[in-house]
Amino acid sequence: MLKKVFGPSDCAKCRLCCNFQRESVWETPFLTDEQAARFEANGVEIVRRERGGASFALRFADGCDEPANCPFLDPARGCSLSDDLKPFECKVWPLRTMEKDGRLVIGRYRNCPALAGEKGAALDRLATEELLPTLLAFVAENPESIRPFSPLYDVCWEGDLSASFNAATNKNDGSR
Ligand code: SF4
Ligand code: SF4
Repeated sequence: MLKKVFGPSDCAKCRLCCNFQRESVWETPFLTDEQAARFEANGVEIVRRERGGASFALRFADGCDEPANCPFLDPARGCSLSDDLKPFECKVWPLRTMEKDGRLVIGRYRNCPALAGEKGAALDRLATEELLPTLLAFVAENPESIRPFSPLYDVCWEGDLSASFNAATNKNDGSR
């Protein structure tokens, strides 16, 4: 979805999105209950989220702060999931939909090395000019996927929460 701005070779050198510290477990990709059941039926360990929905269980080594890989990260080749199984959030990361002061915001992860310089602004334009209806439609259908705002993200779009949900079925409300 984001290939207009950066590509798999950028991520191959980085893998930050697929590797989690204990304090960044909240960043693990959101799965709908239906997706979670499908993975579980294939033996994948799933954890349920407090806010609803689910995510992949991570295995941290005891007694150390080593980050844990997503179970679908192949260290040599990257994500091993096909496009139809990959969680939506993985398809749009480093964009993240969050709630800030009662507003819906789309944030761009500030430390993505592929987005240095002009590319960050290019992704913001892609998010607001092309991907916005898709992002809003996903959160309208899965409001439990919305995370509390994190200062690790720069806001590239914001809108009224309920108006944004309506926009998913009608049209973008134009707020920014
Ligand atoms: S942080 Fe950026 S470059 Fe690194 S894996 Fe994620 S999207 Fe790719
Ligand atoms: S599902 Fe794939 S893209 Fe998403 S975190 Fe896991 S390895 Fe990375």
